[in-house]
Amino acid sequence: MLAPPSERLMSPDLLQRRTLEIGHALFDRIGRGPSVWDRSWWDDRLMDMTMDDPQVKVQLFRFIDALPTLRSADSVASHLLEYLGQAEDRVSWWLRGPLALARIGRLGSRLVASLARSGALHMARRFIAGETPQEALATVRALRLRGLAFTADLLGEAVISEAEADLYQHNCMKLIRALTSALASDPEIPLIDRDHEGPLPRVNLSLKLTSLTPRFDALHAEATVERVLDRLLPIFQSARQLGAFVNVDMEQFAYKDLTLAIFRSALCEPGFRDWADVGVVAQAYLPETEDDLRSLLEWVRGRGTPITVRLVKGAYWDYETLLAQQLGWPIPVYPEKWRTDANFERCCRFLMEHHNWLRPALGSHNVRSLAHGMAVAELMNVPNDSYEIQMLYGMGDPIQRALIGEGRRVRVYTPYGAMLPGMAYFVRRLLENTSNESFLKASFSARTSVDDLLKDPEETGAMWGKKRRSKAEVDSTLSLPPFRNEPHTDFSRPKAREEMRATLQKVRGELGRSYPLLIAGAETHTADELTSLDPGDLSTVVGRTARARSPEAEAAVAAARAAGESWSRTPADQRASIIARAAEIMRSRRFELAAWEVYECGKPWREADADVAEAIDFCDFYAREMIRLAHPVHRDVPGETNATEPLARGVAVVIPPWNFPLAIPAGMTTAALVSGNTVILKPAEQAAIIAWHLVQILHEAGVPPAALTYLPGRGEEAGQALVDHPGVNLIAFTGSRAVGLEINRRAAEPRPGQNHVKRVIAEMGGKNAIIIDDDADLDEAVVGVLESAFGYAGQKCSACSRVIALDGVYELFLARLCDAARDLTVGPADDPETVVGPLIDAEARDRVIAYAKLAATEGQVALSADIGQLAGRGNFVGPLIVAGVEPRARIAQEEIFGPVLAVLRARDLDEALLIANGTDYALTGGVYSRSPAHIDRVKRDFLVGNLYINRPITGALVDRQPFGGFKLSGIGTKAGGSDYLREFMLTRTVTENTMRRGFAPDLEEAETARATAPPG
Ligand SMILES: Cc1cc2nc3c(=O)[nH]c(=O)nc-3n(C[C@H](O)[C@H](O)[C@H](O)COP(=O)(O)OP(=O)(O)OC[C@H]3O[C@@H](n4cnc5c(N)ncnc54)[C@H](O)[C@@H]3O)c2cc1C
Repeated sequence: MLAPPSERLMSPDLLQRRTLEIGHALFDRIGRGPSVWDRSWWDDRLMDMTMDDPQVKVQLFRFIDALPTLRSADSVASHLLEYLGQAEDRVSWWLRGPLALARIGRLGSRLVASLARSGALHMARRFIAGETPQEALATVRALRLRGLAFTADLLGEAVISEAEADLYQHNCMKLIRALTSALASDPEIPLIDRDHEGPLPRVNLSLKLTSLTPRFDALHAEATVERVLDRLLPIFQSARQLGAFVNVDMEQFAYKDLTLAIFRSALCEPGFRDWADVGVVAQAYLPETEDDLRSLLEWVRGRGTPITVRLVKGAYWDYETLLAQQLGWPIPVYPEKWRTDANFERCCRFLMEHHNWLRPALGSHNVRSLAHGMAVAELMNVPNDSYEIQMLYGMGDPIQRALIGEGRRVRVYTPYGAMLPGMAYFVRRLLENTSNESFLKASFSARTSVDDLLKDPEETGAMWGKKRRSKAEVDSTLSLPPFRNEPHTDFSRPKAREEMRATLQKVRGELGRSYPLLIAGAETHTADELTSLDPGDLSTVVGRTARARSPEAEAAVAAARAAGESWSRTPADQRASIIARAAEIMRSRRFELAAWEVYECGKPWREADADVAEAIDFCDFYAREMIRLAHPVHRDVPGETNATEPLARGVAVVIPPWNFPLAIPAGMTTAALVSGNTVILKPAEQAAIIAWHLVQILHEAGVPPAALTYLPGRGEEAGQALVDHPGVNLIAFTGSRAVGLEINRRAAEPRPGQNHVKRVIAEMGGKNAIIIDDDADLDEAVVGVLESAFGYAGQKCSACSRVIALDGVYELFLARLCDAARDLTVGPADDPETVVGPLIDAEARDRVIAYAKLAATEGQVALSADIGQLAGRGNFVGPLIVAGVEPRARIAQEEIFGPVLAVLRARDLDEALLIANGTDYALTGGVYSRSPAHIDRVKRDFLVGNLYINRPITGALVDRQPFGGFKLSGIGTKAGGSDYLREFMLTRTVTENTMRRGFAPDLEEAETARATAPPG
């Protein structure tokens, strides 16, 4: 906790007393909210009525979000009906009229569209100061006339191409120039144009660093810093020359450290070290903000020139909370509002204590928070004009007036820009204003008492503590932890990056070794070896393995059969705990396993990390599933017991691919093992070394050596020998369609000496499509398509290789897609900046190059990225986007397994679905749309194993998204789902007649005895 020296001298009672006095005085001036004569009063009443029902609120926000992209009146009317029609009886009266109009046809639609657009514009204008620099100038002049300073914010988030980042920079500089020249000759207003030291810049600009580069990513921090500085320094230069102030806003938590690093780096440049007209934002909802302020202070002292710190609570609370919950990461923000408020007060005390270095700007509409800051300043003798209060345009106008009345400098954050990029900002403000936690809502709508509004947050916290304790008592009664997905590594944390970098270095020193076969625990070397190369650097041998052929396959099957009885009779819960232990070992070697993937399979950092996490998930999930399935299912009747229970199949051959080098082999192997089968793992040649580590881990966890054989070899040699062998009961395969169908065919034929039917589990290819509806959010669609198509260079079976855009957005989508794809970095996987790594081997590269040539004849090449020097180093191919492709073209039908994306045009959703379903495959698919009716239609009619709505189509998570397709994509099993283990088992039913001469045991007693028996 921050405890500056003078705070220790300041009595808490005195501080609280002054806070209440100042707060009451402000409320006296405010008079509890806007009056009925204010426009905002009516807006707020309307909002309150509408937002009372949470479902209506969400639907209305979604409609507002989609509105700017809707081109026709019919489309506006149909969207309104789709979003709100079903809840018509719950929406407030003012929406019922438009809903009724929307139903009556063309004339009604026109009226509805015009009402909806003008209504949204009316609401947006409350928070957005104008669309053009001229409108912005008029607004800031009007603010100044009311005694308010301003900071202009250029709306625009989610920059996805270099061109868009250039435009943002250009617009920032244009705005600075326009405002400084216009305001220079305006008369000075001392309250806002001077502080305790002299004149202040009249023009104040707030900007977002993520808008200065399409790739703002902490994983490649150095490159991001460089790119952002290239655009930021000229803005600083121009601001300094023209005497303007620049504030760097704070965005999502993932960007915070990098934002601070860039801010510091820019201001340590020789031209800016002595520049004081700059500021940055601190968010009190982050517990670590206290530490950040301390280190900012240290840095500012070192620099020798003060800066301004705008202290806010933070605008992304819902986002941060949801995202962390989705990813399984610790939630970075305080979970309770009072904690944020209390931290705001602590940080405020720190700023006031050090106001000479960190000039405070208190950004809040909360009268308690502001009154506390003002009381602290007063008690610490900080001059009134050495700090300022900041508020958002359109929020808390009566508070602004009250503060001006008290002679305070108030600065209004004034966003301006086009409505489309403004929607994210507008919806954030609506969310904030209608949140139950909002101070403004409580003050002006809900009519909480002034005493409650001014309550010390710590006091509220004490009450919370009591409520929480009673909940914790209930939680502690929970038994075994349920399955939880292993969180991916958060590489925005410097520690994670350092650890990965060091581990890559360490693993590099272990490359080039030789690995034997492991049959029944015995190491077997062969005369010749298979070599695994780093696909990004063909001069590097990752490792060499022995090469199994028919005799070794024969020995492996014999060993696996011999071990079968003992392993299958090992109690299920014991097998499960061994597999769960393997998950633990993987967790402890997490970075090391990822590093092997980087070198052996060219997986970029995040992809490699996600693969290891998925392997851990498979182990943990199947272990729990086995415990669940091991319970026999009883269907007893008086005098007869019936028990159905699982049984291992026997010897399982596992043939995984190289593209998920740990997760897929781990998933198939552990599913087979945990269900009591012995396993022969024939790894992909290109990923044989990672498979070696998997086998080591499983043995270390307690899988008997004889129950798991490591048998690297060629598919057509060892693979075929295993598939044909009469002693094999099950083959689990993931890979190409051709090989999968061949395995299925061969396995179907009984061999001499074989007295069973082989079970084949085959996951094969895909020709996956994403549909882009004409109302799609293109910022998200472009990013989602890029990730799905070019992540791991398009070498995932779930990758998107066709994108079908509806007529209305085709051109715009294609242009933005190509702009964004142009900036994807192609390179070796160990470089954290790489997005598109190498292809797995020369054969893959040659195949993709051949398809690229074909593509040029089947469509127009819209983007073909140049890979320059990389060609000679590894199997690199840059992203290729081909437009105007016909649905039956080969590049729209055949699986390519590389960074090649075909873009197809569809008249409407019907045609898009026809194209999407028009291949031999049915693995993954997706749609970007904001029409609830279209989303429903796609859910019903897009027939694929895994369908994703408004998100990328790769990255399925165990348990949450069981993975697998049908048609020629696979046999229909779902890896990572609750039915998967059953595929690896037989079931047996035992019926016993328990009646002897009319007497049978009591059924209820037997039931109770069973329920209390341990599983296994
Ligand atoms: C001039 C200005 C500039 C701003 N710039 C930025 C910026 O650069 N970056 C940024 O992120 N925000 C910025 N904001 C927005 C700010 O962070 C707040 O979202 C907004 O001001 C509301 O806070 P409040 O104190 O006015 O209202 P209050 O109603 O007192 O507080 C609302 C805030 O409390 C927090 N909160 C809500 N629910 C919970 C909960 N359950 N647990 C914990 N905390 C919770 C959230 O931060 C929420 O916004 C800015 C605000 C102003 C006034």
